[in-house]
Amino acid sequence: MTEAPVNGTMAQEFRPFFEALAGGCISFPRCDTCGRFHWYPRYWCPYCGSVAIQWRKIDGRGTLYSWTTVHHAFSGDPPRPLPYIVGLVEFADAPGVRLITNIVGTDPARLFENMPLAPVISLTPQPTVAFEPVETASEVAHS
Ligand SMILES: [Zn+2]
Repeated sequence: MTEAPVNGTMAQEFRPFFEALAGGCISFPRCDTCGRFHWYPRYWCPYCGSVAIQWRKIDGRGTLYSWTTVHHAFSGDPPRPLPYIVGLVEFADAPGVRLITNIVGTDPARLFENMPLAPVISLTPQPTVAFEPVETASEVAHS
């Protein structure tokens, strides 16, 4: 999941992302000068150098760009069930953004490139977001 650090060390430029999550929304920084989104957040546009950055709420639905399955815990990781899936998610209404996050609610063998995904926002103990597959009409008909 994309989650805020619990020890207070969150970089200030990420604060709007987690504040939007706390309100149940996903938002990304967008340059008012050139109109491009970027990620990770910066105080200036990586494309044109402008400091006219505004955070824009997006629909939140995305597609799977790439992923990996983690079978062994990393040193220092908080305990979590294994395996888990780390994915890169793209957003049609925030082109240029690829968010590193967790993919939940599915088996790794069922994933495919450009798979439609929906956000799963949790608010406690801190705002987090993961993504789950959106069932297609054919999957609903066969389940
Ligand atoms: Zn720009």
